[in-house]
Amino acid sequence: MEERLESYLNLLCQRAKELGVSEAVAIPATDIGVDERVALKCLAPRCPFYGTNLMCPPNVMPISQFQNVLKHYHGAILLKMDSVPSGPPEELTGPVEITEIWEAFKAAGGEEKPPSTPTTDYLRALRNNLEGIYKITSQIEALCLEEGYHFAAGLSATGCLLCDQCVGPGEPCRHPLKARPAMDALGIDVGATVKKAGMQLSFAQKETRSWVWLILVD
Ligand code: SF4
Repeated sequence: MEERLESYLNLLCQRAKELGVSEAVAIPATDIGVDERVALKCLAPRCPFYGTNLMCPPNVMPISQFQNVLKHYHGAILLKMDSVPSGPPEELTGPVEITEIWEAFKAAGGEEKPPSTPTTDYLRALRNNLEGIYKITSQIEALCLEEGYHFAAGLSATGCLLCDQCVGPGEPCRHPLKARPAMDALGIDVGATVKKAGMQLSFAQKETRSWVWLILVD
């Protein structure tokens, strides 16, 4: 990676930490793993975002196209935000369906909020984290634009959750300047990329959850 870009990425990592991320690592774009098998994981088991969220497959750029796009980038920063200080409550750690978790997650952000319970509190904390992530991503992108890196593009840690219910295919996005595709929606192998960057992530059910996302810079 070119020296000027590397030093700018390190500066962005420092800024991201000041904005509240737990960890930020500058990586060469060649360290971003893309694997077509990630697409299968959207379907087996089927994710509730699949087909319904504008920022998830098959509503986003195909993996093959993203692979070509990625070849033109030279660097990126990988960011991690620890979600909540404790692991999920018991009812979310058992053998529950992903759609049940998703319904509970949506309800936690609704205008008529369900009463405070360990589950709703936990899900609300996750939603608050996501709002922070969207904000930090936009701030970092703006810095890149000012510096002349006009192809800077942030990808999300998950399918878009800016609305409680996405408008879905065929309808215009409600927040077109904020919404961004999920890393895995474009075929990024998040686990492999995180590992190569030397970040530690736990997938244990009862551990603290972390959001990981990426900003391509060029
Ligand atoms: S901002 Fe709303 S409408 Fe747009 S992709 Fe996200 S959830 Fe869907």
